[in-house]
Amino acid sequence: MSHNILFQQGNMQLLSEGLLDGTITLKELLSHGNTGIGTGEGIDGELIIIDGVGYKINHHGETEILNDSFNITFADTHFDHYQLLTEVDDVNLTTCLNDIKQLISGNNLFFSVKLHGNFKQITTRSAKKSVKPYPSLEKVGENQVEFTAKNVTGTLISYYSPMLYQGVTVAGFHSHFLADDLSIGGHVLTAEIDHVTAYTQIFRSFLQSNPIDDFDFIHADLSDINKLDTVIKNVE
Ligand SMILES: [Zn+2]
Repeated sequence: MSHNILFQQGNMQLLSEGLLDGTITLKELLSHGNTGIGTGEGIDGELIIIDGVGYKINHHGETEILNDSFNITFADTHFDHYQLLTEVDDVNLTTCLNDIKQLISGNNLFFSVKLHGNFKQITTRSAKKSVKPYPSLEKVGENQVEFTAKNVTGTLISYYSPMLYQGVTVAGFHSHFLADDLSIGGHVLTAEIDHVTAYTQIFRSFLQSNPIDDFDFIHADLSDINKLDTVIKNVE
């Protein structure tokens, strides 16, 4: 086990081409980390892994605890070795994350931010699972649902990837959330922080795993990287 490695299953280009097969089970993913974010086969909800437990926020906004055999299309995971950074009050999430990036000189680094505490407001997104043959990503986008809560306590896990890696992953911050009482969660769109404790973990290595046993992946044309920018905001 290494605290220096960020493990990623699949890549974002694959999602943008509608390759939504699950290519790793939760059990196998957990061998690469006990903390993470991702999505299930067919964009089956939004996932967050905290303390080695996988949670799915489904398209009704309900939180389910996942079993070992749950199939995952895309995920980032690592072993929790967060260091306490600072306390944060009264700021929106975007400003908070960018301030943290400045503070740790993180522009060219892969790192994770964990925030725990109270949020004045948070808006998240999840999606209804699509089945094969998978629809276009625009259609998948139509299956997405947004949820908002006020005055909620929970954990936000975010990964930052340098701009250089857009397409391989989501360049910039990619954040998922889960309330302590499981009342809301998902892919974070906006948030206003009341008071949170901020932790960071910097990775020396980025380990990206390709689904080499997946027929569709092997035979896909993933060379159109321009396509990605137009859809990346809507799919992960
Ligand atoms: Zn996401």
